[in-house]
Amino acid sequence: METIAERLKSVQITVEQSTLDAHRLSIAVKLLAVSKTKPVSDIVQAYEVGQRLFGENYVQEGVEKIQALQTLDDIEWHFIGPLQSNKTRLVAEHFDWVQTIDRLKIAQRLNDQTRSHKTLNVCIQVNIDDDENKAGISADELNDFAKAIAKLPSLTLRGLMTMPKAKQSQAEQAASFARMSALFEDLKKHYSSVDTLSMGMSGDMQNAINNGSTMLRVGTAIFGSREFGSNN
Ligand SMILES: *Cc1c(COP(=O)(O)O)cnc(C)c1O
Repeated sequence: METIAERLKSVQITVEQSTLDAHRLSIAVKLLAVSKTKPVSDIVQAYEVGQRLFGENYVQEGVEKIQALQTLDDIEWHFIGPLQSNKTRLVAEHFDWVQTIDRLKIAQRLNDQTRSHKTLNVCIQVNIDDDENKAGISADELNDFAKAIAKLPSLTLRGLMTMPKAKQSQAEQAASFARMSALFEDLKKHYSSVDTLSMGMSGDMQNAINNGSTMLRVGTAIFGSREFGSNN
């Protein structure tokens, strides 16, 4: 069996090769290691070989891991799961980023609950394929929604996040990623804080890099498959 260090290395090689092929710089694509359902010891293994960005989907589980790993204080924690209003305080207090903003009410709560000495980095989640099974705002709503988010003083709008529809062809998926990239380029013109296009997972890293992703969210390819029943 491959170790986490070995799998992380091969993901890094894929990123290097894909960025080269796409005539992009490898440092322009960050790697978020998605550690949901995986134990703290797995996070430590990735940390020991230099990984610093970690993503969690479930509030309680994420907060427990953040607390257990408090001494590793250069980890950047990203919340990437669905967020209900009764859990916003925990997220505002413990995480550095929230990538799944798609309701103003949740954003306002996060803004009010973020401690005064810090700001919370946020990405707006876009449902680029208008998939009824996916969260996120639609592309038409983006301008007005971004304007409202940018007004919240304790939040820093960093960009966009998406999960394209599953079971599309490569070409369809590339088209979805390209539409995201166009939205991102437009958003950057209006907000100087915007620098992040979070798209691409274990199965579609290359395609996402080809179409302008600046942050991959990779779980399985680093930590191995997750147990059945643990909500993918
Ligand atoms: C689980 C998850 C990922 C990682 O998916 P893999 O296919 O395991 O790489 C990325 N983004 C989000 C939002 C997820 O929930």
